[in-house]
Amino acid sequence: MHELSIAESLVAIIKEEMDKHDVTRLMKVKVKYGQISAIVPEALETAFQALTQGTRMEGAKLETEEIPLRARCRSCGKEFSPQGDDLYIMTCPFCQTEFGHEIVSGKELYIEEIEAE
Ligand SMILES: [Zn+2]
Repeated sequence: MHELSIAESLVAIIKEEMDKHDVTRLMKVKVKYGQISAIVPEALETAFQALTQGTRMEGAKLETEEIPLRARCRSCGKEFSPQGDDLYIMTCPFCQTEFGHEIVSGKELYIEEIEAE
């Protein structure tokens, strides 16, 4: 359950942004998270709702979008999207190298959009 601490950071960032822009009501937040960031969107949503209850962020819609995993082969240097559930063995479709690839995307977590008025 690291979603709670993530939701806490999100709420802190949103609060700061809202103060900066002098808005009073949060409408929507869009969060993008990587496929291997181990985020459960439903858990994040629940935590967000719990944390924003009774604040000016209450009732805001939390939208989440997954960023697919992309890796760059350590051997041939080509980028690919690893298939299957086993994220520890990612076989390069071009040269069949299995380990040591660089993760290009899929680990990140950030706010893409804040809508408030
Ligand atoms: Zn390769």
